[in-house]
Amino acid sequence: MKFIMLGAPGAGKGTRAALMAEHYKIPHISTGDIFRANLKEGTELGLKAKEYMDKGHLVPDELTVELLLDRVGKDDCQDGYILDGFPRTIHQAEVLEQELKKLDDKIDYAIDVHVPDATIEERMGGRRTCTKCSQSYHIVFANTAVEGICDKCGGEVVLRIDDAPETVHKRLEVYHEQTKPLIDFYNERGILKQVDGSGSIQHALAAVIEVVGY
Ligand code: AMP
Repeated sequence: MKFIMLGAPGAGKGTRAALMAEHYKIPHISTGDIFRANLKEGTELGLKAKEYMDKGHLVPDELTVELLLDRVGKDDCQDGYILDGFPRTIHQAEVLEQELKKLDDKIDYAIDVHVPDATIEERMGGRRTCTKCSQSYHIVFANTAVEGICDKCGGEVVLRIDDAPETVHKRLEVYHEQTKPLIDFYNERGILKQVDGSGSIQHALAAVIEVVGY
């Protein structure tokens, strides 16, 4: 089963994708996490991506598309995967579609996690992320047991630069201009499923199982 997670930054795509990965036993692939891992390792790709990420802009396709295609070609993706943060533009969606077509393959579901912009800004202002394992927390809704320390791995939990209020604003703008058109793109292909992302995360997986059927 191959899934794409759609929705604004902060809609809860990552949290849902992680739960789905466990349930469907397929990898959760986040392009944002791949860029952040590269940055942590100090690779050229990571440093280049940072210039765009810190401003809330999209990383250019020439740095993003090959990276993603390479990742989905790995052995652990044979039974499917969940893409979180890719595609983010119509061009990326078209390239992915063409590449899959060559393999006589396709995406099964595009799950759009819908959340109003005002809720997104509130959520992201309080979001904190582990610098080691990328687990996300929220200072009001889901804080760490010990302030600033990840419950899962003991890593340092911080406010990501790209979660700062002015960057969040820019990211939402970019989302509306470049990523939201993907909703129509996948709707036209008959594989769009919409879930309400404003409720609690406890019901998140159940909502996906309901639309997918298992
Ligand atoms: P995310 O963790 O998915 O919110 O991604 C963080 C940042 O990484 C985004 O704001 C973009 O700058 C960059 N990024 C992640 N995925 C993509 C993509 N598919 N295309 C372009 N930029 C991306």
